[in-house]
Parts: sequence; C-alpha cells; structure tokens
Amino acid sequence: MKISWKSVLLWSLPILVVLFFLWQGFVASNNTEFGKNIASSRMTYGRFLEYLDMGWVKRVDLYDDGHTAIVEAIGPELGNRIQRIRVELPATAPELIPKLKKANVDIDAHPVSDNNSTVGVIGNLIFPILLIGGLAFLFRRSNNMPGGPGQAMNFGKSKARFQMEATTGVTFEDVAGVDEAKEEFEEVVSFLKRPERFTAVGAKIPKGVLLVGPPGTGKTLLAKAIAGESGVPFFSISGSEFVEMFVGVGASRVRDLFKKAKENSPCIVFIDEIDAVGRQRGTGIGGGNDEREQTLNQLLTEMDGFEGNTGIIIIAATNRVDVLDAALLRPGRFDRQVTVNVPDVRGRLEILNVHARNKKLSEEISLEVIARRTPGFSGADLANLLNEAAILTARRRKKAVTMSEVDASIDRVIAGMEGTALVDSKTKRLIAYHEVGHAIVGTLLQEHDPVQKVTLIPRGQAKGLTWFTPSDDQSLISRSQILARIMGALGGRAAEEVVFGYPEVTTGAGNDLQQVTSMARQMVTRFGMSNIGPLALEGQGSDPFLGRSMGASSEYSEDVASRIDMQVRSIIQHCHDETVQIIKDNRVVIDQLVDLLIEKETIDGQEFSEIVASYTPIPQKPEYKALL
Ligand code: ADP
Ligand code: MG
Ligand code: ZN
Repeated sequence: MKISWKSVLLWSLPILVVLFFLWQGFVASNNTEFGKNIASSRMTYGRFLEYLDMGWVKRVDLYDDGHTAIVEAIGPELGNRIQRIRVELPATAPELIPKLKKANVDIDAHPVSDNNSTVGVIGNLIFPILLIGGLAFLFRRSNNMPGGPGQAMNFGKSKARFQMEATTGVTFEDVAGVDEAKEEFEEVVSFLKRPERFTAVGAKIPKGVLLVGPPGTGKTLLAKAIAGESGVPFFSISGSEFVEMFVGVGASRVRDLFKKAKENSPCIVFIDEIDAVGRQRGTGIGGGNDEREQTLNQLLTEMDGFEGNTGIIIIAATNRVDVLDAALLRPGRFDRQVTVNVPDVRGRLEILNVHARNKKLSEEISLEVIARRTPGFSGADLANLLNEAAILTARRRKKAVTMSEVDASIDRVIAGMEGTALVDSKTKRLIAYHEVGHAIVGTLLQEHDPVQKVTLIPRGQAKGLTWFTPSDDQSLISRSQILARIMGALGGRAAEEVVFGYPEVTTGAGNDLQQVTSMARQMVTRFGMSNIGPLALEGQGSDPFLGRSMGASSEYSEDVASRIDMQVRSIIQHCHDETVQIIKDNRVVIDQLVDLLIEKETIDGQEFSEIVASYTPIPQKPEYKALL
C-alpha cells in the first residue's frame, strides 16, 4: 500500500488536537500548583517582620509583583535549619526594602511572566505551529518539482546564503603556475595589509577584480589565497545563488552580503560565477529577466555606494567575460581583469609539485614527464590525477605511488575505464591493423606528434588506442601540422582498406572520420587554408544568448557553400590517397608490428619506432624542448 503524505497528515490532525488539550491541561494545573511545592509552610507579615528584627532572615524572593515572598530563614524557633516560608505581603509596604537592605538580606524579585508564563505561551503556540508546519510540509511534498510552488516556501528566508571564512588558510604557496595573476594580486594584498601607505599618497585601490578563466584553473583558490595572505575574512557567494524565483530576493541578498562585509572590513568578497547575475541586461530570448536585472542593479549600487578605501575588495570569477554587462566592467567597478589560463607545461609542473607535497611518491616518479603528458589539463584535473593515482596505489597495496599508477590514471582521465583485451580473432587482428595504421603514419610524418604507445586494451568506447606525445605548444598550428593530423587519423581506415579490402572496412573508424571532417572543414571555413582564400566564413563560437546551433548563421551564398564542400572533400581525398600510399609502402613492417601487438597487446613508442626504423628511415621530429 502506498501511504500518501496527505493522508498521514489528515489522520494526525485529531491526534494533534488531543495533544493540544492535554498540554493545555498540564500547563493549567502547573499554574495552580505554583508556589506550593516551593514553600510548604507560611507565616504572617507581622511574624516575618519579627524574624527580620531577630536577624533570622537570610534571603527573600519576591514573586507575584511583590505580593508574595518566599523567605529563607534560620533560627532556634525553626530548629536551627534553613526553612523556606511563604509570606503574603501587604499591597503597600514601602518600608520593607530599605529594612531588608539594612538587615543585609539577599533580595531577588521574579517577574510574573517568568518561566511559568513562557511555558503557557509555548503551550498556546504549539498547536498553531504544528498545524502550520504540517501544512507547509504537505505543500512542499506535493510540489517538489524544481521551481514549483515548493520553492515558494523559501520566500520568507531572505537570509543571505553566503559563506564566511574568518581565515581561509590558503596562501600563494598553494597556487601554482599562475604567476602573472599572483603578481597582480600582490598589490591587493599589500593594500589590505597596509592601507595607509596607499591612502597617504591619495591612491585609490580598485574595488573590484575580475578573474577570468576556464573552470578548474584555480580562480576560487586564488581568491582564497588573497584573503589568506592578507589575513582578512573571506565572504563568498555564487552568482547562481542570487538568482531566485522572486523578484527582489537576489537584491536583498546582495544588500545583506555587503552589510556583513562592511561590518567586517577589511575583507574580501568573492562572487563566483558572476555571469549568472552579471549578464548584459535586456538580452536573451523572451525579454530580460527582471529578477536578474534587479540583482545586478543592486550589485552595481552597492559597489558605487562604498568609497574606494573602505577596505572591501570584491573579487569575481567567471569563464564568460564576453557576456558580462558593460556596466560591470566600467572603471570603479570591476575595472581590473586578471586572466588565469589552463597552465602550460611549466605551470603544470609547478601545480604537480604543490599537490605532490602531501603524497607519498616513489623515487622514480618524474613530475616532468607527467607534466609533459598532460597538455590541456587544468589545475583541478592535475590535482584529481594525483589523487586518482594515490587511490590506485592504495588499492594495489603499494607503499608509494609509482609511474605505473600515474600512467594508468592519465589514461583513464583521458580515455575512460580500461577493459579487457579480446582473445585472438579476426576482429582483434583488424583492430591491430587499424591501430598500427594510425601509429605508422604518425611515425613517418615529420609534422606529426611522435607515438607514445599503441595498445589493444580497450578503454571507454575505444577498442584499441594509439597514444601520441603531444607537443606542448598547441596554440599555433601550421597547415602542414593539421594535414599530418588528418592523415594520422585516416591511417586506421586506410590500413583496414589496404589489408582487408574495401568491402571489409568497419565502423571502427567512425570517430576518426568525424575528427578528420571537422579539421578539414575548419581549415576551409575558419583558417583560410584552402583555395577559397583567406576568409573566415564561420565564427568559432556563436551568440552566447542563442544556443550554439541557433547562433551559427551562415553568411555566405549557396555558391560558396558548395565550394566549401568541394574543398573539404578534396583535402580529405588528397590526405587519404597519401595515407593509403604510406600503408602500402610499409606493408612488411606493418605485418610484423601487428603480430607483435597481438602477442604483447601494448607496444611503447620507443620500441615501435625502433622496429620501423629498421625498415625505413624515420624523419627527425622537432626536438621536444627540455623543460627546465
Ligand atoms: P576554479 O574556481 O577556477 O573553477 P578552483 O579554484 O575551484 O577552480 O580549483 C579547484 C581545485 O583545483 C583547487 O582546490 C586546487 O586543488 C586545484 N587547483 C586548481 N588550480 C590550481 C593551481 N593553479 N595551483 C594549485 N592547485 C590548483
Ligand atoms: Mg571556482
Ligand atoms: Zn582509429
């Protein structure tokens, strides 16, 4: 049977009602009992005054607006033991207090609404509270789809959802490979530490610094490090937390945040993902977003509201500076931009050094080699990589991380989980030819990255893999390098074709062909590398406010479109012909390599090129720069 929350609540209502009366009864009886259990004996006011004169009274507690007193007294008449006695006081006894004072008696007054009436108030409130709570619970339960009325119940909670860290404990030591950004921030740190040095000469320190860079490059870490280095508190909130269903909630959060920050200045306010609030206003499909605009306006107002030297520095992070509202980037707001990029090989080495500090690494590990194998990895990727390697080490019950765990982790991060190799079969042979095809073309083309290893052990979607050691400088790629990559990618299919014949080629090359087509198309439409000429016919990105596909408008004629197709096809055709030729010319060594690969399942790049070199000269690859 399925019990719905509604029915549970319906059934529990009568029980709640009964509980309410029981509770009221308890409170009521408690009221009448008051005092009785405190002092069992009583005496008259006159007698009390006598006691007082005798010096027997030690302490008086006044209750009931001064009408009742509980007296603690000791004396021979009381058996020389402290007794608690109740006394009704006359309405007007102004002489009493000075008298008590003179006799050095401890006096204490207890207001009527002391504990007993609080209990009563709670008793009276508990039923409505339970009822409202129950209804709210029911309301949430039945509406817990995102953005539905369930969320509406949060409305009253205007509390700012920001975090405050008194000390972040992060220092510049912990952030590596972003030296320019660090330099930029040294200044901010010295301002937070010694503001007077700047104000003395009339300098205004920037209020806001915008950190721009792809995810995982250490933007949050840097902001924390600034707070840590300057020893100031760190307030953080994510832009997406400003954006709520109700107009005005985000704005009130901004107000709260800045209020708290002002109370704690000097401090750092960190706004993550500022693009969530800071998008250009009045854009987007279906008109603007009122809530977001209000939030942004509030943010701008707050930033203008405090003078440059109050000691609050706002650091915001985004990976989409292009979509930010121009008002945010105006001087006096986020007028400084610091870019943090995916680290280069040197940066990766430094980051690896930071994260290797708390790991047990064996002697043979070379962080340099790891840095070289991981182009495109962000700081977060590298941290994750070392952690994965450490986990694997523990699983293998080793004492320290070795290169084999690191290699396995890199492969896994790039290509997915490892599977088990096929047993010898026609399919395995075909895959082996395909992979050796990639590898031999890559080896024999001077402009191609060298082979790192060839393997038949499947990983992720791939049934076999050829790894190349990428050169680090991936930012400028020449036409002949792209052509070499296209040929390398076609090598697998070409080998299948040459060895097994056209009717036998497989779907295994699907991925390769996709890459080939995309590279060839970009040569024509983006990089002006075809005989259409140096024209950029398509932009890289697209309008950030329309989806990628919607924004990619083609601004060329039908005629140009068909010329593009022709060019793409002729590039790929040309590369394919060359590749088939390379495979045909090297058939003997390919056969030998395939046999070896089937036997060993993995051949490393060194061995591979030595075998190839014993048949045919290998062009000298450009030297890979020594690192340090
Ligand atoms: P972002 O905010 O840019 O997305 P984070 O600062 O949150 O990236 O980085 C996530 C984690 O990755 C950090 O906690 C740190 O462990 C690691 N990391 C990223 N960049 C660096 C770096 N430059 N130096 C050291 N560690 C880094
Ligand atoms: Mg972050
Ligand atoms: Zn392939």
